[in-house]
Amino acid sequence: MANDREAGEVTGATVGSVMRALSTRGPSTRADITADTGLSRPTVSRTVAMLLSDGAIEEVKDADYAGRGRPAHLVRLSSRRADTLGIELGRGHVAFAVTDVSGRVVLSASRDTNAVSSLIDRAREALAFVVAQTAHAHVELGKLRNVVVGTPGPRYRHPDAHPAIDVSLARLARERALVADLIMRQLGVPVSVGNNTRYTALAETNRRRTAGLSVDDLIYLRVDEGIGGGIVTGGELQAGAWDAAGEMGHVSVDVNGAPCFCGGRGCLELVASLPAVIRAAGASDLDDLRERATTDPVAAAAIAGAATATGGVIAGVLAVVNPSVLVIGGSVASLPGFIDRVEAVARATAPSWATLDLVVEAAATDHVLGAIGAAAAGHAALEGAIPLVNRDA
Ligand SMILES: [Zn+2]
Repeated sequence: MANDREAGEVTGATVGSVMRALSTRGPSTRADITADTGLSRPTVSRTVAMLLSDGAIEEVKDADYAGRGRPAHLVRLSSRRADTLGIELGRGHVAFAVTDVSGRVVLSASRDTNAVSSLIDRAREALAFVVAQTAHAHVELGKLRNVVVGTPGPRYRHPDAHPAIDVSLARLARERALVADLIMRQLGVPVSVGNNTRYTALAETNRRRTAGLSVDDLIYLRVDEGIGGGIVTGGELQAGAWDAAGEMGHVSVDVNGAPCFCGGRGCLELVASLPAVIRAAGASDLDDLRERATTDPVAAAAIAGAATATGGVIAGVLAVVNPSVLVIGGSVASLPGFIDRVEAVARATAPSWATLDLVVEAAATDHVLGAIGAAAAGHAALEGAIPLVNRDA
């Protein structure tokens, strides 16, 4: 380090120190950065010059300067340069979020899409949406370092069918590989594809942390077309051996029940997902179900039955994982009385230590949350790596 300081040399370590200082402090003078990093003035000066020419940081415009007098040549992380891109290919919507090098979300958006279109079609639609929106907002994608895509369904790693595995899972695995390939070819960066509800769990956790809450142990449950979720313990999103930690819809509620596509039997998803509740209620669709939820005893009983089964599964999850926060979202969860009943059943069934301090909340209805969580996962994967920068700059 002493040699670096004296020589004013720009290295991966000096770049990392300067970026971290700017991420923590916000707009800073070179003197601020020198004080924060302990690097020499020539080193800070050269590193800042290189980052400015690279576009990773930018001079603060006079109009943005809130201090008194002339701005003393402040610089900050560029909000015009995307570092990580998160994409969610949901059922019925596509969304994206881009972060800067500090992990801050600088742009996010979602749009409705055809719920029955294929994953690859939704990926094409999402890419076009990302390109148009970032161009409109003058956010550059050229220096992007990675992309994380969230889609419904657990990640089945093998593209070949297996006797114990439903063909739909093998097909999903092949579609995800195509999606990763499509995006990688268009954007030229590594792409990973995982489950969207896992990323939403991460985003729900970060949302509370940003609001100043200390949340290290959170369960996110989504009751929708399928039933899934994510588990955050010790502040980390849990993946599991097959990236399937959080698949609460595939906990059995009837060991003699019908076989499920997952290879199990009597899964919660078979009795409490949206299609199951619609069928039990004799409804035609979600809107019909919602309309009849409080007036038709058959519909009310179908919703209550699904909530009771879900509450029983959640009680088990609470007993085993012991979270401090339980977040419930999805179309079925938005039906009248559903979350209240899940909570009542879980509290009545689970051990007292699992529920005494438990906070139960409805999930944000924001469609960009899964994409924001995917971007957060992408940023976390990069942390510790030497940021950015043309090696030949
Ligand atoms: Zn199942």
